[in-house]
Amino acid sequence: MKYHSTQGKREDPAVSISQAILEGIAPEGGLYVPKFFPAYCVNDFGTNLEKIAEKFLGTFFLNDPLEEHLPEICKDTFTFDIPLKPLDNGIEILELFHGPTAAFKDVGARFLANSIKHLNTKTTILVATSGDTGSAVAAAFNSIDNIQVVILYPKDRISITQKKLLTCWGENVISVEVNGSFDDCQSMVKKAFRDEEMVKEYHLNSANSINIGRLLPQAVYYVKASLEYFRKHKKYANFIIPTGNMGNSLSAIWAKLMGFPIGQIVLATNANDSIVQYFKENIYRANNTRETLATAMDVGNPSNMERFLNLKAFFNFDLSEISAQSVTDDEIRQSITQFYKEYKRAICPHTATAFAIQQKLGLEDVILVATAHPGKFPNTISDILGIDVPLEKDILDVMKKATDPHEISNYEELVNLLKNKL
Ligand SMILES: *Cc1c(COP(=O)(O)O)cnc(C)c1O
Repeated sequence: MKYHSTQGKREDPAVSISQAILEGIAPEGGLYVPKFFPAYCVNDFGTNLEKIAEKFLGTFFLNDPLEEHLPEICKDTFTFDIPLKPLDNGIEILELFHGPTAAFKDVGARFLANSIKHLNTKTTILVATSGDTGSAVAAAFNSIDNIQVVILYPKDRISITQKKLLTCWGENVISVEVNGSFDDCQSMVKKAFRDEEMVKEYHLNSANSINIGRLLPQAVYYVKASLEYFRKHKKYANFIIPTGNMGNSLSAIWAKLMGFPIGQIVLATNANDSIVQYFKENIYRANNTRETLATAMDVGNPSNMERFLNLKAFFNFDLSEISAQSVTDDEIRQSITQFYKEYKRAICPHTATAFAIQQKLGLEDVILVATAHPGKFPNTISDILGIDVPLEKDILDVMKKATDPHEISNYEELVNLLKNKL
């Protein structure tokens, strides 16, 4: 399998998965996408997560230096449960938050870290985070030699718990608090990647969902969950997916296009509704970021939209079952309250967008995607429900090591910081 860039020309040579992973972003600024999407036979898949991962990802690593390491990479990535739990009447919830930093991003970040480990290169991972990516990436790369991690996050736009999880890793992780929004962080990262000198000097690589090494492993849990649902209910599952940068939902879309039993895919956004506007008007416009309760989805210009538009332009897939809906902060609050009333447990504000949309649409045969543990957002949950929902003890222990971050306001300060620290 080869990969080409969304901004590339048809005649440009395609690259291998190792190269796509190491570059992160393509030289002319595009994002890597597979040259084609293989069709799978669902009967070839069993029920074991690690085995499903090996089989599904095998095609994407064919004839690559990483191919021989894929079983080990899968074994080291899929170390925690990703359970699909029934709620009632054909509604189920896919819990993606049982990893080391309690959000779905642990899956992609661990897969990426384990892949890069086998490529034996010196690398600096530079990543912008709206809260959960940074900690997942820090945790995933923390124990890997030769790799430095630099994390940019927006000041005052993440929870205290998230901040602790970004600053508790020590040695090879540099945490940087940016005076601005997530989009400001993301533009600084993009600027650094366009800066050839910086890329060369520090061997910069990205661990944002612009890196294809994060998107492919995420498709694995959609493969597993859709098969499990289909075998149990003899029906295709509809998925509602909390969406920000569109990395998680794009993985689901890819899984659907490759023949797995997925019906509708509804992208749930918060008030940042560029994607919803796009589905309405068929014209994509980036917007300024709005602050909401579902902070990890506060993205005005979702980077994976580019991959979706490319899919539309170059493949002949029927995308009519993909749609998007946005949810206000009030609806998020109501959703958390309603879910607690019906199912006696808390959901995080992101997951709440999915439940709000299920309620609004009355969609049946549905899997709600739970992207983070509610304990990561203690203030929001206790404001709305008046209860404390603790995280698992091992995460609380790690958080005790939190330290002070570096602070910057612009790109020049980032350049200087890297000069001094790397
Ligand atoms: C990152 C994140 C999202 C959004 O995922 P994208 O891949 O950026 O669309 C949703 N919920 C939580 C908890 C997240 O951390």
